[in-house]
Amino acid sequence: MIVMKFGGTSVQDSTAIRRVASIVATRLAEQPLAVVSAMGGVTDKLVQTAEVAARGELSQALELLQAIRARHILAASEILVQAEANRYAEELDARLGEATALATAIAAQGALTPAQHSHMLSFGELISSQLVAAAFNALGVPAAYADSRALIITDAHHPAATPQPGPTRARLLEAIPPLLSKNLVPVLGGFIAGSESGQITTLGRGGSDYSAAIIGAALNASRIEIWTDVSGILTTDPRICSKAQRIAEIGFHEATELACFGAKVLHPATLLPAIEHDIPVAVLNSHKPNEDGTIIRATAAQGPAPFRAIALKRNISIFNVRAPRHVGSLRFLDDLFSLLRWHHLPSEIVAISGATASVAIEGSRDLGRLTTELTSLGEVEFQPDMAIICLVGEDIRGRVGIASSVFGIMATAGINIRMIAQGSSEISVSFVVEEKDAVKSVQELHRHLFEEHSGTASRTGSTAMETAQA
Ligand code: ASP
Ligand code: MG
Repeated sequence: MIVMKFGGTSVQDSTAIRRVASIVATRLAEQPLAVVSAMGGVTDKLVQTAEVAARGELSQALELLQAIRARHILAASEILVQAEANRYAEELDARLGEATALATAIAAQGALTPAQHSHMLSFGELISSQLVAAAFNALGVPAAYADSRALIITDAHHPAATPQPGPTRARLLEAIPPLLSKNLVPVLGGFIAGSESGQITTLGRGGSDYSAAIIGAALNASRIEIWTDVSGILTTDPRICSKAQRIAEIGFHEATELACFGAKVLHPATLLPAIEHDIPVAVLNSHKPNEDGTIIRATAAQGPAPFRAIALKRNISIFNVRAPRHVGSLRFLDDLFSLLRWHHLPSEIVAISGATASVAIEGSRDLGRLTTELTSLGEVEFQPDMAIICLVGEDIRGRVGIASSVFGIMATAGINIRMIAQGSSEISVSFVVEEKDAVKSVQELHRHLFEEHSGTASRTGSTAMETAQA
């Protein structure tokens, strides 16, 4: 079986839902299970509903719920025949009746408990998944709604509960295979779950990807597809390089490294359950379903270029501390990191040699106090307006000459490098340049390291799977 997850924009209205049904129809031979988000924007509206109710503005809360109702009724009327639309409207009104009762209770209390917050947010996925299940049936994709609140079992933490793999697997194995064997597509709401005692929980904002990974892992899916509105992960930001290319396949650790350095990719932490079970995760575009997208897997096949991608993180500052008195002293590093922790400054990259340390941090706020305190360790120099460039690629591990080719490109472009770090896992090389040189650096690196390797997977049109086998 496979898991197909559709985000908020992929189910935002009747046009989008029709598109989703036609995509699922192409996969029926693989026994798909669909996980859907709330319609785009609905979760935010539910947050607002809970908040205005807690301020005692009940009528505003009810107006927000009415607007949510109208969107669902409209989409239903555009897809379902009258009798089915009426049936759905009944279910919808039962659910929104609960939401109304909840808003009323919150308004009466004049406050919002974390459990009530989760409960309110759960309605978005609840009503979207019921709608999508009905729509699939109307559009010729035999489907069955299944209730995530009873199938994804978590602790009772709010707003982001922790899934319990054992009970979740047991419930899913009881409920889902019988549907699949009847050739029905189970449709589940993402993001929502329940505790063993029946409390409604959520997996935290953006949690539908996590739901898909949990379900895929529990049911041992052969693939998880995350359908969004971009065609997978690109080699770099296309606003910087118009020749950015789709990455056919990327390793889990590479994707994690990219996300840390500012690339807008799916959050890899949410994929952990899938990666631990070695299930490949495809990122695909529901607006362009024929494009191949990107496959994330535990270990990806070697790509056409030595690196997989380039990420750029702007708005960085660095400070250098020279502490000649402390040569060979462990106290120096200890004191340095204690000060960073004290000032709540997570470091982006750190380079240490002898009694000199360079630390890159996000932001350019005035570090007056920190600078004074660091002065007790040695001489301090603070430089704002920097950027980090991070080149990621599992293939560089153990390869000779990679650093020299990267820094050679930078030297030829006449760009000064302020700080260098190579990750201990040897899958990335990061360095700091002045922000004014950042765009040119990425363009030059991309041109030499990616564009000169023509005949890449995306250009020859071979699919991600073919590349994996190559
Ligand atoms: N609807 C939820 C949110 O907006 C979960 C998700 O879409 O992933 O955060
Ligand atoms: Mg999302």
